[in-house]
Amino acid sequence: MTQLCTIIPPYLLDRLAALGDEAAGRSLAADAALRAARASLAAVPAPAAGRPGRTIADAGRTERLPGRVVRTEGGPPTPDPAVNRAYDGLGATLALLLEVYGRRSVDGAGLPLQASVHYGEKYDNAFWDGTRMVFGDGDGMLFKDFTGCLDVIGHELAHGVVQYSADLAYQGQSGALNESVADVFGSLVKQYALGQQAEDADWLIGAGLFGPGVHGTALRSLKAPGTAYDDPRLGRDPQPGSMDDYVRTEEDEGGVHINSGIPNRAFQLLAVELGGPAWERAGRIWYDTLTNGSLRPHATFAEFARATLAAAGARFGEGPVTEAVAGAWKRVGLAV
Ligand SMILES: [Zn+2]
Repeated sequence: MTQLCTIIPPYLLDRLAALGDEAAGRSLAADAALRAARASLAAVPAPAAGRPGRTIADAGRTERLPGRVVRTEGGPPTPDPAVNRAYDGLGATLALLLEVYGRRSVDGAGLPLQASVHYGEKYDNAFWDGTRMVFGDGDGMLFKDFTGCLDVIGHELAHGVVQYSADLAYQGQSGALNESVADVFGSLVKQYALGQQAEDADWLIGAGLFGPGVHGTALRSLKAPGTAYDDPRLGRDPQPGSMDDYVRTEEDEGGVHINSGIPNRAFQLLAVELGGPAWERAGRIWYDTLTNGSLRPHATFAEFARATLAAAGARFGEGPVTEAVAGAWKRVGLAV
């Protein structure tokens, strides 16, 4: 079964709701209803494969999906910037997948991409539900419009890529790998669109998403996990960047948005060590690992690390690249 992958982890909204934040409480209730609805589905039928076209709908601030279709593939921009940002974000993700990895859409078979904007009332989240991308407007105080971050769009669609490839189970270490891979490719979508070198990228997920007055720069940092925010309302970024600080918790499906900081940092270290654009070599190794059939759904961090080493060897031969892969994992406390 596919998981409802929200960009804002439940523990953040829980905390805000406990502090009496109305928008967070409503968003949490909407997420719980969505999760319950999904739990009752044995499988989500995939839309018919075809040309990887985009369809953007407007949910009109309701929780009814998909809403009214407002822009389709090749159609002109609309007066609504959220619609156009969603359309362009889907396009940037399709471009990275196709132009760099030769993959036709998230499923590799041309799956048309659908998105809905203006979901719910001040809804503080965005998610991929297994068939479509859904964006809230945010409450305007803590979170702004979720269509504003290209890496958030890339992150959510990367969950789609995982769903159609390694299908990493959304629990514990394999769940944290699922989250990490989504962050990695989310950041790569942005870096590719901006034409950035690895060392020049911000390596942030959700930069610009926080509203005015929030003490933080983003939701997560791949470069420096644990430093993205420190705010009286949101608390402190809980991500570790090394196995020494691995967090054992029952919350958040066993810390899937928390311990993902460890493989995130390994990827960032590798990309900077190899130099050039991160999507070329580091991204290719991660993409090969995800799609070459070597991972089991409940893969551990150590198994994933070994699989990246094998993928690097298969693609680039034994030598400096494989040494860099082993070195990056070693720096986050995983010997391979
Ligand atoms: Zn996610």
